[in-house]
Amino acid sequence: MKRVVVKVGSHIISDEGKISEERMQRLCEFLSDLMEKYEVILVSSGAISAGMCRVDIKKEGVVNRQMLAAIGQPFLMENYDRIMSNLGKNVAQVLLTAGDFDSRKRTNHAKNVIDALCERKILPIINENDATGIEEILFGDNDRLSAGVAHYFNADILVILSDIDGYYDADPRANKNAKIIPLISFLSQDELNQKPSAGSQFGTGGIVTKLKAANFLLENNKAMFLASGFELEVARKFLLQNKQVGGTLFKKEICKEVMG
Ligand code: ADP
Repeated sequence: MKRVVVKVGSHIISDEGKISEERMQRLCEFLSDLMEKYEVILVSSGAISAGMCRVDIKKEGVVNRQMLAAIGQPFLMENYDRIMSNLGKNVAQVLLTAGDFDSRKRTNHAKNVIDALCERKILPIINENDATGIEEILFGDNDRLSAGVAHYFNADILVILSDIDGYYDADPRANKNAKIIPLISFLSQDELNQKPSAGSQFGTGGIVTKLKAANFLLENNKAMFLASGFELEVARKFLLQNKQVGGTLFKKEICKEVMG
């Protein structure tokens, strides 16, 4: 069975600083359908936004963010657990830092439990352990972590569900003529080194961290698909019907594949 890592940005599951029940419900229905066809691992941001629903602590400053994440993480998991169990699926929480992948021993420990959970059709929900690793709360929003998860846990593809529906030839917020690029097999240093720009108050990654994640996977002969997390139809068609009707697929040697 193929293995898919789905990464969801904080903006997708929160709305004006609150967890959006409706969006989480739609996301969970999608994940539940995917689990019928694939081994699925979810990397979910959103702990800080969830924390902000609970306590009046500002998002500014590293320790404040760590506190908000620590408060919000169990609340976020409670939501996933409730919605997924209504759909007949069990979930498990796994907290990692990108640094865990620097140690072969720690990577193996984590992979063993991920493999066992997938085998039992339980959805692992991964987030950064923000008490010991602060990289993603500062500038990654789990983009980098999810690329590590996809590579080191042997997934076939990483699907990033973002507030943007693909990679454009220019920033679509600044340029209304920007066009989506459906297929990418190579990323230039210029693209990878452009200045980060996050799309929202709750998103922190911006397009650059997604490109870096894609580049890491391309270098390791893996694929990444970037699509909207608000409108799940594109990701649904791509993964469940093998049809690309939108989004951006980052994959090496696309020509060969297309031509069979
Ligand atoms: P998420 O919260 O889903 O992780 P972010 O908001 O951090 O996503 O990053 C996506 C944002 O990056 C988009 O809203 C978009 O405005 C911005 N962006 C800048 N350049 C581009 C580009 N070339 N293609 C797509 N998005 C871009």
